[in-house]
Amino acid sequence: MIGLLIALTSQAFPHSYDVRFYGIYLTIDPAPDTIFGVGEIRGFASGGLDSVDFHLGAALTIDSVRLNGSVAGFSRRGDTVWVHGTVPEDFALHVFYHGHPSAGLYFNYWGFFSACLSPNGVKDAHQWYPCYDHNGDKADSARFAYTVPKGYDVAANGILDSVVDMGDWKTYYWSTRHPIANYLVAVSGSNYYLKFTDSWRGMPLWYYPFTYDTADMRNDVQQVPDMLDYFSSLFGDYPFIDEKFGYAESNLWGGGFALEHQTMVAMGTYWVTGNGLNILTYAHELSHQWWGDWVTCQDWPHVWLNEGFASYCEALYAEHIGGVPKRDSVMEKFKNLYFSEDSHDRFPIYNPPMNFMWGYTVYKKGAWVLHMLRWVMGDESFFSAFKAYRNAHGGGTATIPDFQAAAEGVYGSSLEWFFKEWIYEAGYPEFNYNWFFRDDGGGYQLVLYLSQVQQNAPVFTMPLEIMIAGQTDTLWDTVWVNERGERFVWKVPFAPATVAIDPHNWVLKKVRYTAVAEGLGEEGFLCLKILTNPVRGRLSASYSLPEDGELSLMVYDVAGRVALNVFSGQANAGTHEISIPVDRLGPGVYILRLRSRWGSLSRKFTIY
Ligand SMILES: [Zn+2]
Repeated sequence: MIGLLIALTSQAFPHSYDVRFYGIYLTIDPAPDTIFGVGEIRGFASGGLDSVDFHLGAALTIDSVRLNGSVAGFSRRGDTVWVHGTVPEDFALHVFYHGHPSAGLYFNYWGFFSACLSPNGVKDAHQWYPCYDHNGDKADSARFAYTVPKGYDVAANGILDSVVDMGDWKTYYWSTRHPIANYLVAVSGSNYYLKFTDSWRGMPLWYYPFTYDTADMRNDVQQVPDMLDYFSSLFGDYPFIDEKFGYAESNLWGGGFALEHQTMVAMGTYWVTGNGLNILTYAHELSHQWWGDWVTCQDWPHVWLNEGFASYCEALYAEHIGGVPKRDSVMEKFKNLYFSEDSHDRFPIYNPPMNFMWGYTVYKKGAWVLHMLRWVMGDESFFSAFKAYRNAHGGGTATIPDFQAAAEGVYGSSLEWFFKEWIYEAGYPEFNYNWFFRDDGGGYQLVLYLSQVQQNAPVFTMPLEIMIAGQTDTLWDTVWVNERGERFVWKVPFAPATVAIDPHNWVLKKVRYTAVAEGLGEEGFLCLKILTNPVRGRLSASYSLPEDGELSLMVYDVAGRVALNVFSGQANAGTHEISIPVDRLGPGVYILRLRSRWGSLSRKFTIY
């Protein structure tokens, strides 16, 4: 890609050339589970290199390497291979190799299936074919020739150019004219595939279920044309419209995974049910064709650009087919899954720990971050941002700052605050709130107190929708929160009966109604503090009332007997310091208790 080399160099990307083309010409023999053939890498190297490096799994034997047609010397260390010789600007490597791949391409009873995105790693492409194994460098195009025993059907990327019959063997020639990332190159072959086809706007839809799942997959994919229409309307046309789209069934690892291989998704057997139950998983993988395949995250710290996006596309498709209630039920499920992971492991979306790369924080909170960005930007800007992002990076790779820049370009001002708190920092806001109103003659004054009480997380800046409802009337407003504790006042023409925080659930959060200020700012909440402890003579304490009202303050001993009746009666709203004579009480532990209509609070102190 033009400009890629410069961009990568400036980011200290350890790579001396730009991959232009991959060719994979393999005989795949499921009898001894081996592959043999040629991998071709064409690249552009400026600056007169005297060696060129690529990756190939150490489990595979290299028989020879040719550099621009001539046999060249090479050396290997681990999975890296260096080919020695003068490297022309436009160079071609042909790597002749064979063996049993240790990962990346797997054999089982049902056939062979590639999966470069293994649960234990994200760079398994080179375990089955020679490549420079980094997302940051996509090939501009690729060609594939897979020779397999007669009876096998083979699903792969791009277009099926031809099938050549050679007696007991068959060769499937596939090719793509579009840029493709290493981990999206895929081949699936099976004796048990029963392919069926459909079309969308004249583009082939090819499906490869196992024979026993054919009827189920036929049912499951009925909505694929609608999905293609819908996502094309949101994000611009399906990027590979001049090639195809399809799903190839796979049963690796129990069949519980799905992988967004370019133009030919690998669909785990688990998801093929025939009852449409997993329609959103089909939508997720299809949406990856835009987000992941056409625009690829440049490296795995930016995996949100793939998985957060595809996860939100599940919610978007739910909204498309079932309206806001269906979308919100998906988002609610996402929220709870994220909370479950966050409760034991909290980390930012950017650069997640390797073992959480495919976890709920990246996927489900990731979807929520887009939902909130939509709330902040508004629908029109939000969806325009996706188109701008696609226009800027389609066919290439992108980073989170690239997406932020695209969003800011549409939004017209900085979104740094948003990305900082939601992408680069961890956690979510936990709001405590309470509210009171006064009849001020000719109307009512409503006071709302909001506190952010989350630990190990920033104080969040967000717009929050507030609903104030009376017996018959409802008032809506949006406030911006950005502090630990905040107070908002409205003049309303009716007596409020209900106040709801973010009733449309635009913000990922927890909300708790409370009148008691446990760990909060005192204003607007019931609060009790011991100011000196241990104590002799006089006890200093303070209490706060959210508004004027009755309260009682008593001292108890540890046996629960009243030791001192401090105060009982009317008190004013606000914070009050008091000094209580305790010189008549003997040494020991005591409890100061405040009772009010907002609740009760107890605090221990010691007299020495
Ligand atoms: Zn995904």
